[in-house]
Amino acid sequence: MQESIGFDPSLVSYILIFITLSLIIFIRYLITAGMYHFLVFKSLKNRQSPRILQSQEFSSDQMKSEVIRSGISSLLFSGIAVLMLGLYLNDFTLIYEDWSDYPIWYHPLGIILILILQDTYYYWLHRWMHISSVFRIVHKWHHDSIHTNSMTSFSFHPIETLLQGVLFPILILLIPLHLYCLIFIFILMTISAIINHGAVEIYPKSERLGWIQKWIIGATHHDLHHRKFLFNYGLYFTFWDRIMGTEHDNK
Ligand SMILES: [Zn+2]
Ligand SMILES: [Zn+2]
Repeated sequence: MQESIGFDPSLVSYILIFITLSLIIFIRYLITAGMYHFLVFKSLKNRQSPRILQSQEFSSDQMKSEVIRSGISSLLFSGIAVLMLGLYLNDFTLIYEDWSDYPIWYHPLGIILILILQDTYYYWLHRWMHISSVFRIVHKWHHDSIHTNSMTSFSFHPIETLLQGVLFPILILLIPLHLYCLIFIFILMTISAIINHGAVEIYPKSERLGWIQKWIIGATHHDLHHRKFLFNYGLYFTFWDRIMGTEHDNK
């Protein structure tokens, strides 16, 4: 099923991988969130586009604190990635490298399954994090950004980062996934988080494509979560908010 990998990293190698991955994750955040802020948000704002959300009032001090908190998140996500690498290199996971190991239809199905499971986990974790005693410790850092921008996308309390990240080492033990599909999901997570916090609605509003905003979470949906607190808890999809009656009227 899986090719063996002739690489057995020592503890020093793991530490070097941890440092390198931390830098890659943090620099990836700075570049992608920074580019979105300047190339999408700023350029649309300069053109006074109606796609800019009314609530964009973030300060540079807020952005600085978001970048520092995101640096801490990068270290913790890197630690989780090193754990996943250790599990993978020691053949504990169901990650595969040969596309022919599963039928062609399984590869996209694996991605969709992971996204639905992650969305479900996050919805209920998020509901729990809004219990006031939990909120004060675990989730307030993220909500210090009442008016979000793309830099908010990775700004979490360390406990929240760990609670979000712990799902993936478990999922790769249980669900077969091609290595490239896993990398694709990580890229999608980054893009989705930036879009949802970027203070600009990029999804179409036309009648024909209105289903996108109805079912896929975007900036309007998540901006309402940051401003109204008790609505719109989902991560990628709106279905849990719709089922549980927690979707805000303005969507
Ligand atoms: Zn929240
Ligand atoms: Zn948020």
